[in-house]
Amino acid sequence: MFCLCSAMRERTVPTELQTLYIDFDAFFANVEKQDNPALHGRPVGVQPFDSQYSGVIACCYQAKAAGIKRGTKTAECRDLCPEITLLPARHDVYVDYHKRIIACIERHLKVEKVWSIDEMECDLRGFTRAQAIEIARKIQTDIRLDIGEYVTPSIGLAANQLLAKICSEMEKPNGFVVLHPADMPGKLLNVPLGDIPGVAKGNLRRLDAAGIWNMEQLLAISAKQARALWGNIEGERLWAQLKGYPVMRPPTKRRMFGHGRILTREWSYPDRAKECLRLLTCKAARRLRADGFYARKLSISLSFIDGQKLGVERQFPPSKDDFRFVGEMDQAFTAMIAVSRSKRVKKVSVTLHGLSKPEETPGDLFTWSEENATRTSREKLSDVMDSINSKSGQALIHLGPREALPGGYAGAKIAFGRVPTDDDFAESKMTRKIRPRARL
Ligand SMILES: [Mg+2]
Repeated sequence: MFCLCSAMRERTVPTELQTLYIDFDAFFANVEKQDNPALHGRPVGVQPFDSQYSGVIACCYQAKAAGIKRGTKTAECRDLCPEITLLPARHDVYVDYHKRIIACIERHLKVEKVWSIDEMECDLRGFTRAQAIEIARKIQTDIRLDIGEYVTPSIGLAANQLLAKICSEMEKPNGFVVLHPADMPGKLLNVPLGDIPGVAKGNLRRLDAAGIWNMEQLLAISAKQARALWGNIEGERLWAQLKGYPVMRPPTKRRMFGHGRILTREWSYPDRAKECLRLLTCKAARRLRADGFYARKLSISLSFIDGQKLGVERQFPPSKDDFRFVGEMDQAFTAMIAVSRSKRVKKVSVTLHGLSKPEETPGDLFTWSEENATRTSREKLSDVMDSINSKSGQALIHLGPREALPGGYAGAKIAFGRVPTDDDFAESKMTRKIRPRARL
């Protein structure tokens, strides 16, 4: 087993800055401000779709100053900040800005890893402290000149990704924080344990029970104690990073493809909710195929307006075609609606999991039988549909009718850690609204 303790004994803490981390401030809201001069200087909030019932998913610092935060509902937003402009999210615009930002950064440094639509990491190895700071300042200036003064980044420079990310969050918005290894732990000591990325409420409870209430105490324990407190190697990894060590994580294995959607009132009836699920299922299936996977499980979960939550998991031989997934989804959905107290659905989600690659799938999948022949032809048909849609840049061929979903963007919404591709947007091009009007 990989032992971090022995690995650390052989490693030393770097003597120079190693990582630059950029985290954009209130990204969706600030992009909206940048994109529309009428919004300059005004408080702005972004909602998943145009509805008085939905909560904001992002808000600018002016709106934050008025007490609005993620999840604040429309009516409360207007009470707290009557002059606020609330806008439905435009995911394609945010992805466009994201691409331009990457191009801007890469004039100076290669982006080593995109962590999310508005967070990215670059490698500073080989630079002195002065050089690293100069490059980071140039990136900051270029973003202001090329992307715009409203799309502000907060930048952190440190000995590894975790420390650089923590630095990027220290002085938001428009932050610029350097934690050189020679100055460690320095300003790190001011960071509350709950603000460390990856420290969940459960971890905090265990730290609290062990009498560890601040960063100084956490840094003073041993690697072994950190592992014991977390109950796994993650504790030791986190502790080592906080001490400034470089920590390599094994690449994470993909476990699922899924999509969810909160439904507006008119989509809350069973036939429309199922239609929404069908489109999301096809979208998840398309991503599964694009990455070369098969799935043997499909899970559906439904939340109803009376608070009831139901979930069903279905299992089947390894599959990758829309026909199989939509059929399984249909049966799961019908079974849940039959037993639900309310018939009005508030939220739907679908997950394809139990993933495998073709070389890992059981042999009988590829031996001839009538069932396998049908499956093979359906899989080929799904592949052909993907190929035509991808080439045309639009969802020309699909299983069943298409409608604009609540919030649009069938499956091209930005999720944590995943930036939609052009293919994702092609999926929703046939139906989406081009530019919603701001409600000023
Ligand atoms: Mg951000």
